[in-house]
Formats: sequence, structure tokens, C-alpha cells
Amino acid sequence: MRTQLGSSARGAERVAELLSASRRAVVLTGAGVSVPSGIPDFRTPGKGIWEKVDPMEVAHIDVFRRDPDRFWRFYGERFAMLGGKRPNRAHEIVAELEERGLVRGVITQNIDRLHRRAGSRNVIEVHGSIETCTCPECGARVRIERILELLERGVRTPECETCIRPLKPNVVLFGELLPDRAMADAYALASEADLMLCIGSSLEVYPVASLPGVTLDAGGRIVIVTQGPTPYDREADTKLEGDVVAELEAVLDALD
Ligand SMILES: [Zn+2]
Repeated sequence: MRTQLGSSARGAERVAELLSASRRAVVLTGAGVSVPSGIPDFRTPGKGIWEKVDPMEVAHIDVFRRDPDRFWRFYGERFAMLGGKRPNRAHEIVAELEERGLVRGVITQNIDRLHRRAGSRNVIEVHGSIETCTCPECGARVRIERILELLERGVRTPECETCIRPLKPNVVLFGELLPDRAMADAYALASEADLMLCIGSSLEVYPVASLPGVTLDAGGRIVIVTQGPTPYDREADTKLEGDVVAELEAVLDALD
């Protein structure tokens, strides 16, 4: 039985029911969960940071290798923008679902680390995160606070203090493979899940796009909390299409 009732209480009640009945539920999130934190979804026309530049041109591993100053001129801005953002109520509710033992973890495409900051513990960041940068030479890790400090001081390219080599953000750049470990963890969680809550994602971009299919193939159900169409709308048990925070609040209310 499938319901598609926008922000209706019935849809939220159905999701609460599914969550309570599930044993191995997992959350999957995309850019939409961070929009209420003031982080634009780069696919939203006219709103994203990518409007000004071609991401393939600057956020590419080849640019980092060839011209780190150019890479960091762009990526430094991104670090500064994301570094100051705070988790919103949607991140908090996801963390609370884990805290209550209702979900096993969250798989996210977001690099903003806001799930962790909201208190989620089992977070699989399939595109990495801005939390640290690594020296490609010696492997030293440098935390974002230090990177932001350097950028604020006018350093063009943050470097390893020992090797004087440009630091690379631990995010997946264009032209790079996704991290094996994170992908294996994501697929394991998705295949074991009896319920996947897909939040704030159009489910169009690999790898997130493939994960609901993994859960469905293994006999699990999926719920979608996202504005706009997704390729999984027909297969979803329930779809909530209102504001992400309002919808998750309604689900939380229905659980109490
Ligand atoms: Zn080094």
C-alpha cells in the first residue's frame, strides 16, 4: 500500500509505523538535508557555487595536481562557506533516530560533516568530508580548523608543514574514485536494510542513486522524503514531499 500525501499526518504516521517495525533501518541523505543549514544544492539553478565556475574545471584531481593555487582559490571558498555552517533540525532528527535505536546509520553524499556534528555516530560519507586534509607525500592529516586559519591569514594553498606540499581535502574530487571502504560499508548497510529512509536526495547521482535499488532487491522497503521527482517514486512505500524539516518533525511526533 503506497501513500503519497505530501506533509499529511497519515504519511508521517506510516513512516513512523515502518520505523518502529523495522529492525535494520538506514538513512540515506543528499544535499536537500543541508539546504535548511544555508548550504545550497548545487543542482538548483542559479543558486549553487557551481554557477560561477565549471566544477570539472576546478574541483578536479588534475587541477589539484597541476595548479594547486587555482584549485585552492576555488576550494578555499568552499571550505570557508561550509566550515561555518551548523546542523539543522533535520540533521538532529536523523541523529535522534539513531540514538533511539531506530536506524543503524546514515549514508550521505554530503561533505559538510553536519550529520556528525548533529550527533549521528555511524556516518558513512561516500564523498568524503571537509573535516580533514591530507598531505599526499607523508599522509599527515590536518583538521579543517587549521586550514581555515591558514586561509584567513591569506595563505593561498595550505601546505604540509613538514613536506611543504599542497594539502588535499579528503573529499572525492572529479576524476577520483569513490573510497572503497565507505562504498563497501554503504552497500553492506543498504543490502541488510529492511527499510531505507531517503532524505533530501533526487536519487539521480551515483552512488546514492544505486543504493535504494540494493535495499529493494534485498526485499527491503524504501521511504522518500524529498521535494521533486525521483527515479524510485513508484517503488517507494511512502513519499513525503513537503519541507524536509516539517516532514521529519511530523514523523518524530508520530513516533511519540
Ligand atoms: Zn607531508
